[in-house]
Amino acid sequence: MTGPQSSATTPFYGSDFDALAAFDPEISGVLLSELERIRGGLQLIASENMSSPEVLTALGSTLSNKYAEGYPGRRYYGGCAEVDKAEQLAIERCTSLFGADHANVQPHSGASANQAVYGAFLQPGEKILAMSLPHGGHLTHGTKVSFSGKWFDAVHYGVDKQTEDIDYDQVAALAREHRPKVICAGGSAIPRLIDFEFFRNLADEVGAVFWVDAAHFIGLVAGKAIPSPVPYADVVTFTTHKVLRGPRSGALVCKAEHAAALDKAVFPMMQGGPQMHTIAAKAVNFKECATPEYAQYTQAVVANAARLAEKLGEHGIRPTTGGTDTHLSLHDLQGVGVTGKDAEARADAAGIVLNKNAIPFDPQKPGIASGIRVGTPCVTTQGMGLEQMDTIAELIATAVVKGDADPENAVSREVRGAVTELVTRFPAYPRA
Ligand SMILES: *Cc1c(COP(=O)(O)O)cnc(C)c1O
Repeated sequence: MTGPQSSATTPFYGSDFDALAAFDPEISGVLLSELERIRGGLQLIASENMSSPEVLTALGSTLSNKYAEGYPGRRYYGGCAEVDKAEQLAIERCTSLFGADHANVQPHSGASANQAVYGAFLQPGEKILAMSLPHGGHLTHGTKVSFSGKWFDAVHYGVDKQTEDIDYDQVAALAREHRPKVICAGGSAIPRLIDFEFFRNLADEVGAVFWVDAAHFIGLVAGKAIPSPVPYADVVTFTTHKVLRGPRSGALVCKAEHAAALDKAVFPMMQGGPQMHTIAAKAVNFKECATPEYAQYTQAVVANAARLAEKLGEHGIRPTTGGTDTHLSLHDLQGVGVTGKDAEARADAAGIVLNKNAIPFDPQKPGIASGIRVGTPCVTTQGMGLEQMDTIAELIATAVVKGDADPENAVSREVRGAVTELVTRFPAYPRA
């Protein structure tokens, strides 16, 4: 990663911070203090990362102005020749990165990509089988507060009580009983690898479309740190801002036979004009993901997560499923007698940003929760390795078990001091 601001050698309209600061000190102040917040603490939210200055530059460009409803070569607006090149590059890089037949790079977010799956394959009222939210799924997988649960009939599987991993017997039984149109694998708090071959065979047996929501782990697939769902799934949706490290957005890849239906579902069924600046930034990100450096990064993300999970376990903060194969782990705090809500507040007071999370069969309400979720994408981007994971586990344990939500508490201050030392040695967005 290069410096925080690259100085353009040619006149470039975009990313001009000084001009913004002169015109709008309030918003430029927010931008600066958010950067200081990122730099000042440990960012352990499993769904966050720090994209490169190159990605941020593309995001801050005049491509934001362009209306380009439609797809490259078949737009509803004139003047699209330049943005067509950006989208074409994004599509080519995405299909090549994942070895996919087809890519749609227009979804505005992970949730938008998921909407397209419903639009392409389901009529209102039809059935989908997906992982339940409290066991690690996602809001868009048929929960009652989401369009997906209001307009579609969702049946949910969960994890096994003993292994705390997906209950494959339950998945198979529910699929045979309900014969859903779509079977979904993937979620937001699944630490283990998913058996995509199992899901493919089951989908074939019951005549369902197999959809993988890879929002969380697609970056690990791009870097070949974990196996790919692409050969198995009919469609794979994902976000581009999690481990992948691109702009805040979404995309999908699919088998050739579903390309037309999914393209129509993204536009015009679910979205209007594509965000061409974000699509250009996705193209930059896909190029980054094809480098050996990125592959090494994803290996390190996984190794760091495994180490952090193990060390937290040694401090009595038990990893569910016994550990992790990915970039995140989910921890049960019942052994140390702290709720997820308190743990989040205590960590925050000590400069450690993580989130409370329900654990499988959680006795607490979701707003309190018995667990925390931690992830290593950010700290690994900052160059931290196994030794730093040991330190981080110790700092989390101290803050969560002995600390207090008051930042002025002695434990909060002590841990914050150690956090400052760590992020000074491994800075986020290093100053030029
Ligand atoms: C993050 C996530 C999404 C939603 O992505 P947004 O960009 O926030 O809409 C969808 N599915 C899963 C499994 C996720 O983890």
